[in-house]
Amino acid sequence: MASSRNVLIAGAGIGGLSAALMLARSGFRVTLMEQAERLEETGAGIQLSPNATRILIEMGLGSRLKADVFEPKGITIHTASGSTLARIPLGADAEKRYGAPYWSIHRADLQMALLEAVQANPDISLRLGTRVEDFVVHAHGVSAACRRRSTASEEHGIALIAADGLWSVLRPRLGVRARPQFRKRTAWRALVPASTVDAEFRAPEVQLWLGRSAHIVHYPVKTGALINIVAIVDDNWAEPGWAASGDREQLLSRYSQWSWCAPVRDFLAQPDRWTKWALYDIDPFSPWSDGPVTLLGDAAHPMLPFLAQGAAMAIEDAAVLADCMGRYPDDVASAMRRYERARRRRTARVQNAARSNGRTYHMSAAEAVLRNIFLRLAGGPLLLYRYNWLYDWHTATPGSVAREHKLPSARPDDE
Ligand SMILES: Cc1cc2nc3c(=O)[nH]c(=O)nc-3n(C[C@H](O)[C@H](O)[C@H](O)COP(=O)(O)OP(=O)(O)OC[C@H]3O[C@@H](n4cnc5c(N)ncnc54)[C@H](O)[C@@H]3O)c2cc1C
Repeated sequence: MASSRNVLIAGAGIGGLSAALMLARSGFRVTLMEQAERLEETGAGIQLSPNATRILIEMGLGSRLKADVFEPKGITIHTASGSTLARIPLGADAEKRYGAPYWSIHRADLQMALLEAVQANPDISLRLGTRVEDFVVHAHGVSAACRRRSTASEEHGIALIAADGLWSVLRPRLGVRARPQFRKRTAWRALVPASTVDAEFRAPEVQLWLGRSAHIVHYPVKTGALINIVAIVDDNWAEPGWAASGDREQLLSRYSQWSWCAPVRDFLAQPDRWTKWALYDIDPFSPWSDGPVTLLGDAAHPMLPFLAQGAAMAIEDAAVLADCMGRYPDDVASAMRRYERARRRRTARVQNAARSNGRTYHMSAAEAVLRNIFLRLAGGPLLLYRYNWLYDWHTATPGSVAREHKLPSARPDDE
């Protein structure tokens, strides 16, 4: 059965790798094409909330990942001047509430765990160094035009999933006119050994420091051996790409004002190497799918990182898409439409919530007074409760997404 059901995926980021694994589990063969010769990620961490860890654990990656993850006990929110505004409980509290843990992890560790599972799966064929440049839809499915160095080739499948990220080349080919919009923020990232920073900066927590036109997030990764730092500033530097080297002195000058307390400034002075990213997103758009071709992850709904959900949404997409394809293996176009319908509203809400956090985090001094009063009065448990809609999201096993999310009936004529 599986051999006549080859699905093409463009891009082996967290979204593409997750989709390959989940489609293989739903009974498909997968050809996964990645333009990079090797899958590697410049050093950085990501947070994985329960809506994502639940899926990774259901995929059987729990014990493999446990060797690499850190489980933060809470999220502590401070002002730039050093006073604590609130502490949101995570750890055992969040796991009990959501039935899955909140993790932080080095991105390369997550990517490696997914990659190992892909390589061990006989139904997935991974083609590194292969760029998907275009596609044609025909009566028997999709043909993708690929290039490996100077050699052109074609791959055929019943469907094509474009998981090719923010700068997707396949998105415009689907007729989507929306383009990434620069949001006038730059994210600077660095890693430092936990043993070299003061105790307050290596606490087993995610810590968030809010200042005017800038904020900082840091948390342990590599089971606590390293601290991942993300410093975000309002900026006009708009160069696209993933790993520009950042000038340390330039970053430090952005945090040199009196409003940032000395311990934070000393902490930021620790790393020698910073990389920086200009931040883009796209207003929610539709449709994502055309016949047997669809978008997934950042290609479909790139978002600002202020809710730590981009990778989580790509993992959720993969679970829902595999579920829909598993239920309609002989009607891929219908499966794609259902996938898109099941995902669009949620991912748009997350995109908007991430933007809203960005505004709240960088408020002017006058606006920040009200924000700080609200955070102090609300308190951590209520702040966590506000995110129940986000974290308490379940896919369970393939086949169950439709039931849980009250997707339309399985009969195509119901549409
Ligand atoms: C500063 C920052 C912090 C973040 N923190 C978090 C966090 O804490 N938690 C979280 O969940 N998310 C976080 N994110 C978001 C997260 O990194 C992304 O949303 C996620 O990596 C998107 O995965 P993806 O697979 O959709 O795309 P990508 O990771 O961009 O992968 C796309 C892949 O496709 C390949 N590719 C591109 N074009 C082609 C082509 N034509 N043919 C073949 N291959 C192609 C690329 O080489 C790449 O490997 C953060 C982002 C930033 C910038």
